[in-house]
This record gives sequence, C-alpha cells and structure tokens, in this order.
Amino acid sequence: MAHTDNPAQVVTAPQSRGLGDLLLDQFFTNGRILETERIAARMTRIRVGGPALRNLDWLPGQHVRVATGDSASGNVLARVGDLRTYSVWHFDREHSELHLCVLDHGDGPGARWGRNAVVGQQVRFRGPEGSFTLRADPTSGDGAPYHLFAGEETASVALGAMLRAVPDDIPVHGAIETATAEDRLPLPRAAELAHPLRGDASAARSEILLDAIRGLDLPPTPGLAYLAGEARTIQQIMKHLVRERRWPRRAILTKPFWTPGKRGMD
Ligand SMILES: Cc1cc2nc3c(=O)[nH]c(=O)nc-3n(C[C@H](O)[C@H](O)[C@H](O)COP(=O)(O)OP(=O)(O)OC[C@H]3O[C@@H](n4cnc5c(N)ncnc54)[C@H](O)[C@@H]3O)c2cc1C
Repeated sequence: MAHTDNPAQVVTAPQSRGLGDLLLDQFFTNGRILETERIAARMTRIRVGGPALRNLDWLPGQHVRVATGDSASGNVLARVGDLRTYSVWHFDREHSELHLCVLDHGDGPGARWGRNAVVGQQVRFRGPEGSFTLRADPTSGDGAPYHLFAGEETASVALGAMLRAVPDDIPVHGAIETATAEDRLPLPRAAELAHPLRGDASAARSEILLDAIRGLDLPPTPGLAYLAGEARTIQQIMKHLVRERRWPRRAILTKPFWTPGKRGMD
C-alpha cells in the first residue's frame, strides 16, 4: 500500500536552513520522500523528489549512496550518519524523482532507514553513480546476442531497472532468487526468467541460485552477464560461466552488494 498523505506519517519541512545544511549541500543532493509503498513482502519502495534532482543523470543499474542519519538532528554529522548503497529502481527525469527499493533484511542503519521512511522526510544522497550498467546493444561489439541476469532480492532492484531498458527484440535469460514468492519485485520480462525460491536457506553462497543458472538452456555462444547480490554467490556463478560454460571473463559484469558480517559494502 502506498503512503502519501497520512498526517501521522508526514514529516513537515523545517522552516530555515542553517550553515550545516549549506555545508551538506556541497556533498549531497537533497530531496524529500514523496511516497512509500510496501512493494514486496520485505521491500519498501521509496519515491524521492525535489528541485535538486532536476540535473541528475542516471543509467539503468546505477545506485545512490544514502545518508541514513537522523535528518532532523541538530548535529551535522548525526544528520549524515552511515552511508548505505541503494540501486535506482526507476528514474523519472520529467518529474525530478527517483525510486529506491530497500530490503528489510534485519538490523543495520540502511534497513532501519527503509523501515522508518516517512513522507516529507529529508533525504540526502550522493550519485547516481556506478559502472554496473547495461552494456549497449549486445549485437554490436563482440557480437553477443543476449543478456543474462542473476541475483537475489537486493540485486533484483538494479536488474529490474536494467531489464526495463533492454530492447524488446534482444533476448534475456537469467534467474532471480528470493526467499518466498511474496519477496518478488514486479520485474519486467519476468516470464523469460527463472524464479527459484530458497525458503529458509541462506542467500549467502546460494546453491539454489547457482543451480538455477546451471539449469538454464542458454544459446551455445556467450552473451553478456550481469551478476549481483551476495558476494560469494556471484563468485560461484561467475566461476560456473567461465569454467563450465567457457564464457570469456570480460563478458561477465559482477557487483557484490553485501555479504554476511560486512557492513555497508561499496
Ligand atoms: C551497488 C549496490 C546496490 C545495492 N542496491 C540495493 C537495493 O537496491 N536494495 C537493497 O535493499 N539493498 C541494496 N544493496 C545492498 C545494501 O547496500 C546492503 O544490504 C547494506 O549492507 C544494507 O545496509 P544495512 O545498514 O541495512 O546493513 P549493514 O550495517 O551494512 O550490515 C549489517 C549486517 O547485516 C547483514 N546484511 C546486510 N545486507 C544484507 C542483505 N541484503 N541480506 C541479508 N543480510 C544482510 C550482514 O550480515 C551485515 O554484516 C546494494 C549494494 C550495493 C553495493
């Protein structure tokens, strides 16, 4: 359900801006939360907008680094807090908005920020940035005829944005693993992908996602692969493509998003 105008959940904008705000404006883009929505069982879509977003640029697959601190704090450093990385699910250039999808994986400044996000709340972020982006038409250059996508919940945000940008006549293959069917994002071209469920198994070093990729009936020639999500899982899939399917390493883009015990990767 989307939240836009519940008065109990709306934070009003501060009236005046101090020196601290001006300083932070040098390092961060400043927007406000326009809407929050539970887009999947553990995923909150957060729509951020404002005039400062007008001049931003974005390529599908890129992310922002969000300041997860207490935006209402009087202390500048507390306002920034920890930076956490989130892919841009949708970028609306016309209305100067970007949409993020934040997984509530448990405890951490980012998960708490996503869980507690309310309409009207100030959001400071850096970016969009990053080189994990959809490569140009795969029929040009090395002649790869299709794209291959693999990842879990967190990766499905970036992969969804990339899938949306693939021209209709370019084939896509891949597997998106989630814990439950309710954890799935509404992905473009979902019917062309496998959707393995891991249940209570760990998303770290996931044999379930590896087996799903291993089981794909891929064309005999390599395409371009995009592997994201838990670090050790994508390492395993990369090795599978290189060793078992004989793909050249340069045809595989990898981006570790998280791994157990590490905080705020990237
Ligand atoms: C380029 C990039 C794009 C990303 N895009 C997204 C996105 O669109 N949506 C999204 O939700 N996340 C995304 N992530 C992952 C997100 O940045 C991490 O999950 C981050 O660690 C969350 O911060 P936190 O403060 O909640 O937890 P942290 O304080 O960073 O981590 C605390 C502990 O929680 C556990 N943990 C962290 N993340 C996860 C997880 N995803 N699943 C299970 N356990 C976890 C680990 O054990 C970790 O040590 C992206 C990461 C990168 C690098």
